[in-house]
Amino acid sequence: MDSEPGETDFPPSMGDVVCPFCAMACDDLAVMRDRGGRLRVTDNGCARARSLFALPALPAHCFIKGRAVPLDEALDAAAALLRNAASPAIGGLAADTEGISAALALAERLGAVVDHAASDSLFHGLRALQVSGAMTATFGELRNRADLFVLFGAEFDRHAPRLFDRIVRPPTALFREAAAVRGFLVGPGDGPAPEGFERLTADLTQAPAIAAALSQLVAGERPRGDRVGGIAMEDLVRVAAALREARFGVVGWIAATLDPAAGDVAVEAFNRLVVTANASTRCAGLALGGKGNALGANYVCAWQYGVPLRSRLGAGPPEHDPLRYRLKSLLAGGEVDALLWLSALNGAEVPDTRKPMIVLARPGQPLPRDPEVLIPVAVPGLDHAGSIHRGDGVAALPLRRLRSNTSGLPTAAAVLGALLDRLAGSPLPAPLRETAHV
Ligand code: SF4
Repeated sequence: MDSEPGETDFPPSMGDVVCPFCAMACDDLAVMRDRGGRLRVTDNGCARARSLFALPALPAHCFIKGRAVPLDEALDAAAALLRNAASPAIGGLAADTEGISAALALAERLGAVVDHAASDSLFHGLRALQVSGAMTATFGELRNRADLFVLFGAEFDRHAPRLFDRIVRPPTALFREAAAVRGFLVGPGDGPAPEGFERLTADLTQAPAIAAALSQLVAGERPRGDRVGGIAMEDLVRVAAALREARFGVVGWIAATLDPAAGDVAVEAFNRLVVTANASTRCAGLALGGKGNALGANYVCAWQYGVPLRSRLGAGPPEHDPLRYRLKSLLAGGEVDALLWLSALNGAEVPDTRKPMIVLARPGQPLPRDPEVLIPVAVPGLDHAGSIHRGDGVAALPLRRLRSNTSGLPTAAAVLGALLDRLAGSPLPAPLRETAHV
């Protein structure tokens, strides 16, 4: 039988490490590991990566309502809670591909609704895609070719920390002078803009109108009025001229900072602006931000069940309804009677709900209250191997195990698999039970 590798089985310094802590999925980190297994990012990581890689792998207990219990007892209690639920849901889904796949398999067994913690931003893009289509590019294409960025949003450092290092102004680029790149930041911020960029202070709830006006200007038409969304028309004329003159322009946005009620309308307007600019030059759309492998969760759901997230699985054919199965709305409306929340990565804050809750979380995850069952799980990309999807949607990047699992934490996939085993003999979800007798 294979023995668990010790710290000496891992090299003390590692290069080209993939970071799992946001959708940029940077794959150039240098990481050192000390004799105690503590990790330290020594090159290329942002502040978030440096702090999350450095969290120690401490032993963590399972809990039932705040009482420490062995893993088996926690699994039994979680299985009982799920077995007796009439309207279960599985949310969070911040995990590696394998953890998400196991969560969806459990949802299928339970007839549960599935949704990701960051689905609101994700669905801005998906709904716009259904209406207008989208012209996008890979991070690599943008890094090597784009010479103009028009970026809508706020707090770029928080939502896409290494956007400028990795894509806008990388140290080297193949087909352009990285230093010659210019751009505009459109949004509520008022601090200094990065070199070569100009800040246009704007109300982001008006992003659809701003993008529509830019589309008109790029097409050679003149919109009415002298301001749109707080931006003077002469400034919009300059942005439109820059988009027309660029060899390869980019219209980007931080989805999480758009109007929550109309983010899809804004993304649709961005997509139309990109299409308009492509009539005379090259231009691509770039959705930025996202944590917890939200895009990966949506991909896994699509390739395993043929539907996006915000679906109910297992109770007959998968049923997708982006409004009816929005988990935040279901919780607010009291329509869930047991919630399993998966948060092996950052980016999936545990909801403050009174509903019975099973939480599978990385150690250190803040909790609004003691859940009915808490099972700590290992962190993908630090404590075990796996994969995550990058924000441009074209690459699933491999996560490496960087240290021995001294805390002995199970992976999310292993915990979810154990729950599935415990539920194997349970009655099928209602609609399947009915059809099984036909
Ligand atoms: S930008 Fe995101 S993926 Fe890159 S190092 Fe920072 S947290 Fe990790």
